Amino acid sequence: MLVEFDSGYGEQPFRDLCANYPGAETYDPHDFRIEWGPIFHRGRLDGSARVLVVGQDPAQHETVVRRILVGTAGRRTQGFLAKLGITQSYVLVNTFLYSVYGQSGGAKHQNDPGIVDYRNKWFKALLGLGNIEAVISLGGLADQAWIAWLKTPDGAAYKTLAYQHITHPTWPESSAHDSATQAANTKVMLTKWNAALAALAPQIEHPDVQTPLVPYGDAFKPSELVDIIAKDFPAGLPDWMRGDAAWAVRQGADAATKRRTITITIPNGVIP
Ligand code: URA
Repeated sequence: MLVEFDSGYGEQPFRDLCANYPGAETYDPHDFRIEWGPIFHRGRLDGSARVLVVGQDPAQHETVVRRILVGTAGRRTQGFLAKLGITQSYVLVNTFLYSVYGQSGGAKHQNDPGIVDYRNKWFKALLGLGNIEAVISLGGLADQAWIAWLKTPDGAAYKTLAYQHITHPTWPESSAHDSATQAANTKVMLTKWNAALAALAPQIEHPDVQTPLVPYGDAFKPSELVDIIAKDFPAGLPDWMRGDAAWAVRQGADAATKRRTITITIPNGVIP
């Protein structure tokens, strides 16, 4: 059985970035779950990436697999990229290295110099590899992160790079509790995503596959939720961790217990 995998952070400048990451002195442990460690990226670090995606912060699935945007938000993002013909030539980083804890944690620390400086080092490293043709930010904080980078001396060189800010993929669920509003919000989001796709498609000169741009309808079709490729994960990750089941949940009777506990359940049908 031949299974591709991500060989990690052995090459510079990523080796040094991962060896020397900000901890509690930079990320306030009251507002970030730093106890679960930093989660750096997903995708190509070898210069083959054509699209850079900026997400927000990792959740529980990301925490377990040590790559970002691998849960619901990740599968939706993967589907968005696929509509542009980008099936593997992407790289994704988050605005925050650690999972945000609490409602306002992210916004509160958006401009903290240590957080911004380290994030900008990643932008510089990724863009410095060349070949990025478009940048997509997911949600408002990621948009602000990209705009802040463009204002730096190093970032100014990328002002003309194609860029779209899109609604965060799990906004429909985070913005409403009832399914009718979530469905309505999904429709609103996908309408905006279609506009972003139309703007981005002509800018991607080297897609992995040539594909006609098929816009979203009012809701996600199953084919628009795309499995993340094995090549994006550390070696030996079981297949079911790449599937669509929500196999990791934060659990606990109170906030402190929940913060300490991620319960992993192997989906039905995996064990014979
Ligand atoms: N949402 C994000 O923006 N990033 C992740 O890594 C996971 C969910």
